[in-house]
Amino acid sequence: MSPRLKAPRGTFDVLPEAAAGYARLEQAARGLFERAGYGLIETPVFEETELFERGVGDSTDIVRKEMFTFEDQGGRSLTLRPEGTAPICRAYVEHGMHKLAQPVKLWYLGPFFRHERPQAGRYREFHQVGAEAIGTDSPLADAETIMLLSGLLTELEVPGVTLRLGSLGSLGARREYLEELRAYLREHESELSRDVAERIDANPLRAFDADDEGTRAVMASAPQLLDRLEGEDAEHFAAVRELLDGAGIGYELDGSLVRGLDYYTRTIFEFHCDRLGAQSQVGGGGRYDGLVEELGGPPTAAVGWAAGIERILLAIDAPPPEPATDVFIALADGAEPARAMALLNELRSAGRSAELDLGGRGLKGQLKQADRLGARHTLIVEPGGTAQLRDMESGEQREIEPGRVLEEL
Ligand code: AMP
Repeated sequence: MSPRLKAPRGTFDVLPEAAAGYARLEQAARGLFERAGYGLIETPVFEETELFERGVGDSTDIVRKEMFTFEDQGGRSLTLRPEGTAPICRAYVEHGMHKLAQPVKLWYLGPFFRHERPQAGRYREFHQVGAEAIGTDSPLADAETIMLLSGLLTELEVPGVTLRLGSLGSLGARREYLEELRAYLREHESELSRDVAERIDANPLRAFDADDEGTRAVMASAPQLLDRLEGEDAEHFAAVRELLDGAGIGYELDGSLVRGLDYYTRTIFEFHCDRLGAQSQVGGGGRYDGLVEELGGPPTAAVGWAAGIERILLAIDAPPPEPATDVFIALADGAEPARAMALLNELRSAGRSAELDLGGRGLKGQLKQADRLGARHTLIVEPGGTAQLRDMESGEQREIEPGRVLEEL
């Protein structure tokens, strides 16, 4: 025998039982976004590598260590998308969407790729659903997008959810704070992990996200940006909080919240679920007022989020699919298969779910199969054109005219 092949590390097959959970989530998201006036956008699964280097930032973990990057046959560097916001902003600029009525409200759902160490809730290919409101700096947009993710998690009955909220201030105002943070980190350089110490200049905020104890101890007393918000940044954040309060959306202020991507400005947030262990973040996002311009577009304020579909499904322990088969058509010995096919067609055309044994089983085996599928009825087609309709729950069986199957059901 040839050696067996396996799905690559960190990837998985979505088998039919699990696909039902994905479908349910997609349906909930679609309904929610349609009611909120968000349009669906689909961007390519791979992009020019430069988009992520510029958009996500070269000093982030994603760009430094986690991208699946390859050269195509024309020598261009391409990358499997690790996130959705930079591609959507690229599309916004490419299609001149700044000329449309603002903001442009978009949602998406699809696979993303990061070369991370696989564990429960962390994969190398995973799926995200996300939303972006591009072309507005109004705090209303921050609150509305947060409300959408909160609504999705509520509708899907994700248990134990908390919202952490912070603000990074605008890029200009942040500069001063970053200098203060760098000075603090340099003072404690010997206690920091090498990774964090190496990035004091390039990306000091990352220190808040570090896992190692030394860095965490240092960061516990580090200066926080949230305490230093001033002027319009402070007003903007206060307005977002007031709107969330008004909408009855509870949150915890978190001054140590930073996100793994460079493009965030002002509001940032994460939803966590206490059932998920180490990978507790089900979704997160924030405002990114500089990204569109960074990608060659006009200055454009925007806000959005992404949520991990596998994490949501893990959190709700996605229930098994409902039995899908209304009618299983079984063939008694000597019955006409063509007759069964015609009935199958008639039932399906009428919107019923109907299946036929394709496995060449005897009648007993077919009834067992109908049971396994959770069929509500089995229609046993007999030789000579008669048929029996069997209620699978009660076991009652009666003869019916095959031409009247729909009425009898
Ligand atoms: P991010 O783009 O890093 O803000 O991630 C948004 C959401 O995607 C997270 O809250 C997770 O739920 C999910 N996510 C991120 N990375 C992974 C991964 N490697 N595997 C599974 N889900 C992920």
